[in-house]
Amino acid sequence: MAIFALADCNNFYASCERVFQPRLNGKPVVVLSNNDGCVIARSEEAKALGIGMGEAEFKVRAMMKTHGVQVFSSNYALYGDMSGRVMRILAEAAPHSEVYSIDECFLDFAGMADPVGHARIVREQVKRWTGIPISIGMGASKVLAKAANKLAKKATGGVLWITPENADEWLELLPVEKVWGIGRAHTARLAAKGITTARGLRDVEPRWARQEMGVVGERLVLELRGLSCMEIEEVAPPKKNVVCAKSFGRLLRERREVEEALASYVDIAAAKVRAQGSAVGTMQVFLQTNVFREDLPQYCPHRVTVLGEATSYTPALIEHALRLLRAMWREGFAFKKVGVMLLDLHETTQLSLFEPRGNDAARSRLQAAADQLGDLVRWGSMGFDTSWRLRAERRTPRYTTRLDELATARAA
Ligand SMILES: [Mg+2]
Repeated sequence: MAIFALADCNNFYASCERVFQPRLNGKPVVVLSNNDGCVIARSEEAKALGIGMGEAEFKVRAMMKTHGVQVFSSNYALYGDMSGRVMRILAEAAPHSEVYSIDECFLDFAGMADPVGHARIVREQVKRWTGIPISIGMGASKVLAKAANKLAKKATGGVLWITPENADEWLELLPVEKVWGIGRAHTARLAAKGITTARGLRDVEPRWARQEMGVVGERLVLELRGLSCMEIEEVAPPKKNVVCAKSFGRLLRERREVEEALASYVDIAAAKVRAQGSAVGTMQVFLQTNVFREDLPQYCPHRVTVLGEATSYTPALIEHALRLLRAMWREGFAFKKVGVMLLDLHETTQLSLFEPRGNDAARSRLQAAADQLGDLVRWGSMGFDTSWRLRAERRTPRYTTRLDELATARAA
């Protein structure tokens, strides 16, 4: 039987901040967007205070102060690196995995004797090895796995498998607007017909869904019935970060081949970013050997870079990606997968670059040299980067990727 599992990190950015500052446990935590403008992540305590997703910071500033909310600037070097650590563990949890966003990964649990027991072990491992809490939802389709994940965040200890036997009960508890791919317009149309739960949507006539909500609507109904018939992209492309990662047709040992694959994935991801009018601030690249081939040596590294200036220009992004790949490349391994994650997406302004400015090769050498020197170098002449970086006033140290920002331990 097909069993899709979706592993999703809980309040990911806020959880990353907590890993390195345990004093934040139990306290409301909020992370702000890249210019400290609005709220992009909230701990459960912050949600309970009524702080909304995307809320402008100045609107809730006074209230957050009153309640002692801990507020941080976004730290994508940290989030990108923590994501790599979580995904590395998830890659071992199933023979096939598909990174969907910075904090979500689909796993193929088909044929597993005890998927719930396995999911509990994976969840425990991720928590113990990275400090990040995750939830795992399972079902016979990706839409059901996503629904199960939403429900697992609220109850059932972070793991839920929606089966034909328990589907009525669980789907009744999920508001229809929480179903993956159901937007505001669909929600209103469904409410007019008295359909307010995922169960209600599952039970409409597929043909009616097609008339009212198009082909995608019809497929959503079928997916809720446990019939897997959609690609992720058809449901809802992620907006806040873009991932492109695929397994190769065969294991690759030549750097040249892996570089070509990576460049083509960057090309795909960059096109998506441009299509939504964004520019990329941070990039993560990861490499995986086949961890299920016990006869082969294993190596699954990842690297993150904060781009000198936000860009959506493909050649510039490819250059960054190849630099990351070369920095972590080691001969003698057979690689199964390479992937790129584009993070910290900025709204495009006239300052964002669709076209190269100046000499790319020279910029690249300068960047490489600057990375070596770390914070000794400021991108004064580039202007744009410093303008937003200066506003990241409450960013925590990049604990996991900067030697000079390591966490300090004190002995009593
Ligand atoms: Mg999440």
